[in-house]
Amino acid sequence: MDKKALLVTGGSRGIGAAICRQASRAGYRVAINYASNQVAAEALVAEIKAAGGEALAVKGDVGNETQVVAMFEAVDRAFGRLDAFVNNAGIVDARARVDEMSAARVERMMRVNVVGSFLCAREAVKRMSTRHGGKGGAIVNISSIAARLGGPGEYVDYAASKGAIDTFTIGLAREVAGEGVRVNAVSPGIIDTEIHASGGQPDRAERLRGIIPLQRPGKTKEIANAVLWLLSDEASYAVGANLELGGGR
Ligand code: NAP
Repeated sequence: MDKKALLVTGGSRGIGAAICRQASRAGYRVAINYASNQVAAEALVAEIKAAGGEALAVKGDVGNETQVVAMFEAVDRAFGRLDAFVNNAGIVDARARVDEMSAARVERMMRVNVVGSFLCAREAVKRMSTRHGGKGGAIVNISSIAARLGGPGEYVDYAASKGAIDTFTIGLAREVAGEGVRVNAVSPGIIDTEIHASGGQPDRAERLRGIIPLQRPGKTKEIANAVLWLLSDEASYAVGANLELGGGR
C-alpha cells in the first residue's frame, strides 16, 4: 500500500481532530489516538471513512510508557508504516497561581505534556529514522504561545511544559535531521476548542477575544493547515522551525 500513514495523539477532538480530517483529505491513512472518550474517537473514524478515507482509533495515555508502546504497535499492525507523527495531546488544569500548585498537579502536567511528547517522539523516530532502518518522515510538536507569555495567574505549569516542548523541538530536530526525519513545531494562540472548558473556563476563548490583535480566537482548521504544510514535502527545508499562530498576540 503506498498511502502514507499519520498518527496524531489526542486526534479525536479539537486541534487534533482538525489535523486528522485535513490529513485524510490530503491522502494520509490516519491513526487517531485518544485518552478516554471513545465515542468522540469512533465518531471521527466513521466521519473520515464516510468521506472515503482510512482511519483507526487507538486508545492510550501518552503519559504511560506501556500504553505509548502499545499504541505505536497497534499502528504498525494496522498500517505497516509510519510516515508522519503529530505530538498534539496536551492538558491544562484549573486556573491557579504557582503558590497554590501541588506537586501532583505539576507532575501530571509535565508527565502528559512533556514526558508523553518525549516517549511518543522516541517511538516515531525508531520507526522513521534511517539510523533504525526507517525511510524518513516528519514530526510536528504542538506547543503554545503560552511558552513565551508564561501564563501568569492562570497556568504557569502549562506554559512551562510548552517551553520544554520548544526546546525539545530544537534538540530533536537537530538530532535526527541527518537521518531523514524533519521535526518542527506549531505554537497556537487561543483556539476555540474544549480544552478551555477542561480547565474550568468554557468561555475563555470568547472572553479573551479583545486581547488578540486579530480580534477573534483561532479556528482548529487554521492550525491544521500549518501542521499539514510542515508534514509535507513543501516544507522540505523546515527543520526546528516553530510557527506561531496567535492572531498577532
Ligand atoms: P482538547 O480539545 O482538550 O482535546 C484534547 C485531545 O487530547 C483529546 O483527543 C483527548 O482525548 C486527548 N488527550 C488528553 N489527554 C491525553 C492523554 N494523556 N493521552 C492521550 N490523549 C490525551 O485540546 P486542544 O485544544 O485541541 O489542544 C490540542 C493541543 O494544542 C494541546 O497540546 C494544547 O496544549 C495545544 N494548544 C491548544 C490551544 C487552544 O487554545 N486550544 C492553544 C495553544 C496550544 P479524550 O477525548 O479521550 O479526552
